[in-house]
Amino acid sequence: MLLVGAGLANGLIALRLAALRPELEVVALEAAPRPGGNHTWSFHESDLTVEQDAWLAPLVAHRWPAQSVRFPAFRRRFATGYRSIPSERLAAALEALPNLELRCGTEVATVAPDGVTLADGARLAADCVIDGRGFRPSAHLQLGFQKFVGLELRFAAPHGVAEPVIMDATVDQGGDYRFFYLLPFGADRLLIEDTRYSDAPDLDRGRMAEEILGYAAAQGWAIDERLREEAGVLPITLAGDAEAFWADMPAGVPPVGLRAGLFHPTTGYSLPDAVRLAELVAETRPLSSAALYERIRAYALARWEAQGLFRFLNRMLFDAADGAGRYRVLQRFYRLPEPLIRRFYAGSPTFADKTRLLVGKPPVPIPAALGCISERAFRRRPRRNLVAGAV
Ligand SMILES: Cc1cc2nc3c(=O)[nH]c(=O)nc-3n(C[C@H](O)[C@H](O)[C@H](O)COP(=O)(O)OP(=O)(O)OC[C@H]3O[C@@H](n4cnc5c(N)ncnc54)[C@H](O)[C@@H]3O)c2cc1C
Repeated sequence: MLLVGAGLANGLIALRLAALRPELEVVALEAAPRPGGNHTWSFHESDLTVEQDAWLAPLVAHRWPAQSVRFPAFRRRFATGYRSIPSERLAAALEALPNLELRCGTEVATVAPDGVTLADGARLAADCVIDGRGFRPSAHLQLGFQKFVGLELRFAAPHGVAEPVIMDATVDQGGDYRFFYLLPFGADRLLIEDTRYSDAPDLDRGRMAEEILGYAAAQGWAIDERLREEAGVLPITLAGDAEAFWADMPAGVPPVGLRAGLFHPTTGYSLPDAVRLAELVAETRPLSSAALYERIRAYALARWEAQGLFRFLNRMLFDAADGAGRYRVLQRFYRLPEPLIRRFYAGSPTFADKTRLLVGKPPVPIPAALGCISERAFRRRPRRNLVAGAV
């Protein structure tokens, strides 16, 4: 089996195969010097089942019992656990797997159901090829972007933040939906991200890093050391044609992760989907490209169907709300009952949740909200499908 790319989705697949199918010989081809990239992957406790949470536990470096949000109108704490996985943990776990051969610094040029061609022209054959090379822009997706820069900082004194602040939207919105995200990795250590939901994917890393330092200073936190930096531009799906998106990919080669469009439409986060997909791969027999392609395609198309409401809410956020008023959409959402919010993040709202999300006065002008209802009509608008990815 060939795993093309050793990022989150293929990394979790390798871990599940090592646990459940140790007889398989797996080779991972990764362009970068190490697997996993440079990320902090976080998720809500309620995104996963108890069993999934258990098999992921060795990767989790930080876990908190609760989280909170801050908006101009209110602050709210949720008793929903939050967890974080540093990519270093995934890399170390993959490097320790006995049945995985990791070939880093290996760039794959083309993929086919029976093998791959490397950038240097070499050809490798396999019964099963899985394409986990990350997000692929497509003419068939209309996107907005969640873009962010994060700095991990150590302070001269305890910062006093005990639990994650998922959104502090009490900041200047700068024409986007903008918030700061805080993860307390220690009493004197925080990951602070400046995040914007924006129409354009461009990212001014230097300026956003300056904004983070300004935010820390405004809280009265004196910085001792700048430990790490990460940045991302994640796709937020507004509308699209899933069948056409799939038709554009190499036929018969199963994609996974962002490449398969398996991410939460409103957050761009993919960890819960990657966990579920790793389980699906490990239980597929026989493990051939053809069998897996059919299963993943059917799974992804069913997810797409089920996620129409998320895309509608995204269109409201990006299109019906003017930049300065976008935060009101999220502020309204965070007043809803906690179990509904949990199911929203887990990507599995019930019928009653969907109704609850749609009733009441919309936080945007009604004519603009009505203009967002038809996904088909929205698809015909000038395209917004620029490149997203790790930067
Ligand atoms: C900085 C950052 C933070 C994020 N935080 C979260 C989070 O907290 N929670 C969450 O759920 N999601 C998060 N995401 C979003 C998303 O879950 C991640 O982007 C996730 O890593 C996507 O998984 P993937 O396997 O599809 O792609 P990736 O993890 O990006 O893996 C793709 C891999 O393929 C390799 N590759 C690409 N092209 C080739 C090639 N031609 N040949 C060989 N190898 C190749 C890349 O080097 C990379 O290692 C974050 C994204 C970023 C960028």
